[in-house]
Amino acid sequence: MYFKMHFRKYIFFHIFFVFFLFFCAVFFLVFIFIPFASAESVPETFIPNEIGRIPVMEYHDVAVKENPFVRSYDNFRRDLEFFYNNDYTLITVQDFIDQNFDVPAGKKPLIFTFDDSRQSQFNVKDDGTIDQESVIGIMDSFFQSHPDFGRSAIFYMLQYPFGQSQYFTQKLQYLLKTGREMGNHTLDHDSLGKMTPEQIQQNLAGLQGKIQGLADMSFPMNSLAYPYGAVPKGDNFIFVKKGESGGIQYSITTGFLVGADPTYPPYGVKFDAFLIPRIQADDTEFQRWFARVPGSTNRVEEQFRPFISDGNKETISVLENDLPKLDQKRLRSGLTIVKSVSLESVSSRSIIAGWEKNAVMSRIDAFLKGGDSDSDNTISKEPANSNAPANSEEPAVDTTKSGGSDAENLSQSNSGTSDGQKLDAGNELDGSDNVLIFGWTQTVLDASWEVKKMFSFFQPLEDAFSQFFIEHSRR
Ligand SMILES: [Zn+2]
Repeated sequence: MYFKMHFRKYIFFHIFFVFFLFFCAVFFLVFIFIPFASAESVPETFIPNEIGRIPVMEYHDVAVKENPFVRSYDNFRRDLEFFYNNDYTLITVQDFIDQNFDVPAGKKPLIFTFDDSRQSQFNVKDDGTIDQESVIGIMDSFFQSHPDFGRSAIFYMLQYPFGQSQYFTQKLQYLLKTGREMGNHTLDHDSLGKMTPEQIQQNLAGLQGKIQGLADMSFPMNSLAYPYGAVPKGDNFIFVKKGESGGIQYSITTGFLVGADPTYPPYGVKFDAFLIPRIQADDTEFQRWFARVPGSTNRVEEQFRPFISDGNKETISVLENDLPKLDQKRLRSGLTIVKSVSLESVSSRSIIAGWEKNAVMSRIDAFLKGGDSDSDNTISKEPANSNAPANSEEPAVDTTKSGGSDAENLSQSNSGTSDGQKLDAGNELDGSDNVLIFGWTQTVLDASWEVKKMFSFFQPLEDAFSQFFIEHSRR
């Protein structure tokens, strides 16, 4: 009897204790270990994937409040932080199409596009300074503290760019000086799909003449974003590529759609330079393509296989099994293909990476299996093919507000610091510091991943924690 009672107590205590330990362990894994691990530098061997896909983000208006086709200033700031934390580097459309972009090893290229030349994209305050609550103000101030992110962006213009006619010339000159590109979006945002050849030419030549005239500088303007994603039908299509009107000739080399995929690089078999897909910059699409929790700037796992640079502009590194995706006839001359990427054949280095099992292990698995795991595991659907207006693209009014204080003066030349893409000097590769994560760490990874899955309803909380750690682990 005495023994029995004692035994029972003992058992209860034991059970309680085991539970207690279990919950401690869970708490540690879910709230401490995983967020901390993803914030701190965990060495990972990255596998270059230069036939991977590249997000081309599509922004329109920016305002205080988030709305369809309107990104809030705060969310735009977080977007920059988000991409930066996920190893992205901005490149230009020109370098992209020329297969000539210089992205450090382990980093991923990214393109920013802004449609409709709204005032909120580039606003100048009464005192002549750049509004910090506008795309240019936000990007330039981010660039000051994160020069390696770059500040490339293309602006698809309509005929009265960015409001404020008194500043047209200065704004355009500033954009060119800071390495931004200007693209064609027609005179008045009419659908090219419904136009006659004459109208198409009037629109494209007309807009180009107008913008180049306003900027009072000569510069290339050979990229087009189709209003509403509508591509001219049949024979009319040739007038997208080349034409003339009112003595102005134009030649277009890239055409961007309204939706809805990350693009392949220009030497991909699926690539069409005149039907380049973009991703709308809103929470839904961020969630869909990046599994990004709205507002979060954490590391994520892309829902597609991203382009990961090998750090060498003159080589294309792909896994052997990915070779069929590469159209060798389209390769820029001088490029060498490094296939069957291996730790020996490609110089690599440790980079900071998350501990999520899939992110680390699947890449390593893919490498070990010679790249079998191509699922491209996306919801891949055809780019909004687009003789018909795909998406009613236009929000109504310009709600640019002014605010923010110490802005950069517009007139002050900002040269010197134009493009941040070549900064990463400490990137010399020696191939000696490859770190594979195996053995017990893998077991821990597996376990933590499983536990995390079980408790996925804690995700928002975890995100907040992890955000906290990221912020506090920076100097
Ligand atoms: Zn538009």
